[in-house]
Amino acid sequence: MEKLKIAVQKSGRLQEKTVALLKECGLSFSNGPNRLKTDARNFPAEILYLRDDDIPQYVQDAVADIGIVGENVFIEKNKSIKLIERLDFAKCRLSIAVPKSTEYTGTAFLEGKRIATSYPFIVTKFLQEKNINAEIHEISGSVEIAPGIGLADAICDIVSTGSTLLSNGLQEVETVMKSEAVLVAGQQLSTSKQEILDKLIFRIKAVNTAKNNKYLLLNTPNDAIEAITKVLPGMKSPTVTPLNEEGWSSLHSVVNEDDFWNKIDQLKSLGAQGILVIPIEKMIL
Ligand code: ATP
Ligand code: ZN
Repeated sequence: MEKLKIAVQKSGRLQEKTVALLKECGLSFSNGPNRLKTDARNFPAEILYLRDDDIPQYVQDAVADIGIVGENVFIEKNKSIKLIERLDFAKCRLSIAVPKSTEYTGTAFLEGKRIATSYPFIVTKFLQEKNINAEIHEISGSVEIAPGIGLADAICDIVSTGSTLLSNGLQEVETVMKSEAVLVAGQQLSTSKQEILDKLIFRIKAVNTAKNNKYLLLNTPNDAIEAITKVLPGMKSPTVTPLNEEGWSSLHSVVNEDDFWNKIDQLKSLGAQGILVIPIEKMIL
């Protein structure tokens, strides 16, 4: 049987969460640090451990069928591959930063300046859209030190909290793009590989939907059920079962993580008691 070849980062910021996601999708495989590839024992897939920067190329060349990379790398490499699914981890942004002492007045500041980056393609596009001419200096690492050593007037690099910028005396002045881990695939997969991929995507959606939701159980006076139900749209409608205690019921529902604490406050003020919140492992809609 054909196997779907999945490229994942060998080591770095994507590695752990990528492997965890595939395992939560039920794939069982070993991930020793020195392996180049390994078969999943219970799913028709082979995992290839590669440098993340190489993954778009390998997927385009069909060395791998699909891969998991940062959206920033997917866009920068500009290969003939498809974005299949956003994965909701490794969230960061690609930003332009200048020395703190610089009085930044807008993108016009960048005209004629030197910008150090590992993302020349993305930065060039950004500057073109703003009609700015600047010199792009491509460097592969430690971009944030470039202004300090006189190599550049500005940088464009990955930012998550901004602490690296701060400690290098830089201020973030433009967001060029937002990024998260994405699943990418080659343009043309065989029918049997596409079927395996569809199965995997189905599982990824179930895992990621579950992560954003919680299972909620609570006790409520019967006369508050209606008001409480309005607060909890749930999947369809909440499950209500009577408690032994006269006039009380137990209510079960699914709530979204986003406005979770607001919901809890509302439920308490409506008379809910004994509220239990339980993580959901898989959620199939
Ligand atoms: P190298 O390939 O040299 O190991 P890299 O920057 O390409 O370095 P990582 O640092 O492992 O590799 O980052 C991989 C991806 O993780 C980045 O392309 C980006 O999408 C994401 N990422 C990077 N830094 C952060 C961060 N601080 N928070 C969240 N996601 C990040
Ligand atoms: Zn990399």
